[in-house]
Amino acid sequence: PQQPRITLNDGTSIPQLGFGVWQVPDAEAPAAVGEAIRVGYRLIDTAQAYENEAGVGIAIRESDCARDRLYITSKLHNRNQGYDSTLSSFDESMARLGIAVMDLFLIHWPMPATDRYVESWKAMVRLREEGRVRSVGVSNFLPEHLERIIGETGVVPVVNQIELHPGYQQRGVRAIHAAHNIAIESWSPLGRGEFFSHPVLTEIADKHDKTTAQVMLRWHLDQGLIVIPKSVTPGRIAENFDVFDFSLAPEEMAAIAELDDVNGKRGPKPENVN
Ligand code: NAD
Repeated sequence: PQQPRITLNDGTSIPQLGFGVWQVPDAEAPAAVGEAIRVGYRLIDTAQAYENEAGVGIAIRESDCARDRLYITSKLHNRNQGYDSTLSSFDESMARLGIAVMDLFLIHWPMPATDRYVESWKAMVRLREEGRVRSVGVSNFLPEHLERIIGETGVVPVVNQIELHPGYQQRGVRAIHAAHNIAIESWSPLGRGEFFSHPVLTEIADKHDKTTAQVMLRWHLDQGLIVIPKSVTPGRIAENFDVFDFSLAPEEMAAIAELDDVNGKRGPKPENVN
């Protein structure tokens, strides 16, 4: 089956399922990303902070897939926030990736105590106006940070990439994203491991002859979320992409909804990252 895409608020579109490379060492990135592209992934999610943009760049060049069929995301490192440093560090990312235009560039964390995310956002908007990046978005932004950049620049981010998995479903912020037509991209979509053997998920997985990882990914896709699982194991890279031939029944979606825990956040709280 053809892989779905999500239309963004700037008129572009993004593959709904992508490949995340956090914690993939630079030296392993060419093989892992190469394998992902080979099995069909088109969206690659890296960041300046992951220190593997060069390895991702090698995979892009070595792959048989034409550049214009790939969708490359990177993110601004916290220490590069600020107008000029956003522009200069973007140039460095592009040199490492070896690409002419980036598909999506995100502010990685709002860092409210430093309070440079508005000027960083203005630099991102300039990069888009110059045609160097097709779309601009944010990550780990709370509603107040979204409202502020929209209020001060009039430019709405295309996505907000946030922690979201069955154990932390972020239902409370879904409406404000929908109201602004900001797509949600789920990070740590598999909850960093603890749900692989959860009985609710194993029962659903057995019914569909799928794995619990595949059920979780399907749960994201069936809600219109963009999702970027990570693995360096070829079998799992393929497994995580083999999710386009089934869908979850309403009662299965309801059972997974029950796993939500407002205190289930595993990663850092955005207001504390500086
Ligand atoms: P994940 O949910 O994708 O994976 C969780 C763990 O499960 C990983 O250790 C992985 O090796 C393992 N795994 C993957 N597929 C599996 C399978 N089929 N069976 C068994 N185990 C499997 O976690 P993640 O890497 O934290 O998040 C995914 C991506 O999201 C990252 O690579 C990165 O691109 C992005 N991310 C972004 C931020 C941010 O602040 N914007 C933060 C964290 C992650």
